[in-house]
Amino acid sequence: MRLRSERGMSAHLREVNETLPVGAGLIGKVAATGETVLLDSAADDPHLFPPAKRAVKTDDIRGFVCVPIRSRGRVLGTLSLGRQTSDRFNELEVALLEATGHQIGIALDNAKLYSESQRQIEELKLTQAQLIRAEKLSAVGELASGVAHEINNPLTTILGQSHLLLASGDIKEGARDRLNIIAEETSRAARIVQNLLMFARHYTPERRPCSLADQVRRVLELKAYQLRQDDVEIRTEFTPCPPVYADENQIQQVLLNLVQNAHQAMARQAPPHILTVRVGPVDGGGRIEVLDTGPGIPPDVLPKIFDPFFTTKPPGDGSGLGLSVSYGIISEHSGRLWGENRPDGGAAFIVELPVGKTTS
Ligand code: ADP
Repeated sequence: MRLRSERGMSAHLREVNETLPVGAGLIGKVAATGETVLLDSAADDPHLFPPAKRAVKTDDIRGFVCVPIRSRGRVLGTLSLGRQTSDRFNELEVALLEATGHQIGIALDNAKLYSESQRQIEELKLTQAQLIRAEKLSAVGELASGVAHEINNPLTTILGQSHLLLASGDIKEGARDRLNIIAEETSRAARIVQNLLMFARHYTPERRPCSLADQVRRVLELKAYQLRQDDVEIRTEFTPCPPVYADENQIQQVLLNLVQNAHQAMARQAPPHILTVRVGPVDGGGRIEVLDTGPGIPPDVLPKIFDPFFTTKPPGDGSGLGLSVSYGIISEHSGRLWGENRPDGGAAFIVELPVGKTTS
């Protein structure tokens, strides 16, 4: 029991009453039994809480009464009065105190009910808002994934054909540049489609032990040409780390999204454009850092970057799905993904993945 309120107590009496065990001593007994205790001389009572004995004696407390504060059959606390005269608290005084205790009990209970219902109303409002948002998202997701499925096949054909043409050799230089643009833009469109499909979860992951460094290499190879076009220098730092149990496609998708964001952030401003990707071990798994020398993320934008459809990019450049999809993928792998600003400018995105199950 804790002392919540007092009047006229000496400092040492307050100190011994600050916390009291339920069940022990006079007040503790009232709290445990719910029965009023009435005494002529508190100091002489054998049930007095031993640590309080000296303070009660020093303060010369004699007449004492303690009543329970109840509500709906439960004892919530006690209300005690002591006085320095040996006049016994009379029946009327005790009845008044008991009635007061009862009123306090009702007031406390009402306050509790009120704050409880306030909390429930807040919770209900929040759930309702989440439900509306989820409904909207799933409707958009369904629609988008239907369209994405349809677009995916022709995109794959265009990409395949342009690669075949590029590989054939007998192409004029001007046409080669144009073909490269076709291939790049097609793979950009394919990435958006993949993000949409993963967002709508129309993809069954296949997990196996995979090397994070290999995934980084593959993604950087894929993006090398585009990065070079915008004078982005690629720096990699690979420290040996254990393979993680993951879906390679999904991890590459995450890396593509992070590299693409870093690229877009840097392309919009003057050089130097340096993309640093680090891979290394972390307690129980692996860690990938994607660092850029772009403008960084403004503080008011930072809390929203993982929200689906949140983008600060002009239409056509951003769908606002890259980070939200990546976050979903990493969370499903029981890992962590977060973004922060680098002390010297630019943004840093960090992925941490646990080793996970090592045998399938
Ligand atoms: P999108 O790239 O389509 O806008 P994302 O979900 O990938 O969608 O990113 C959301 C937003 O996060 C971006 O619009 C941008 O404002 C911010 N952002 C992401 N990566 C970076 C980065 N490397 N530097 C600065 N801002 C970033």
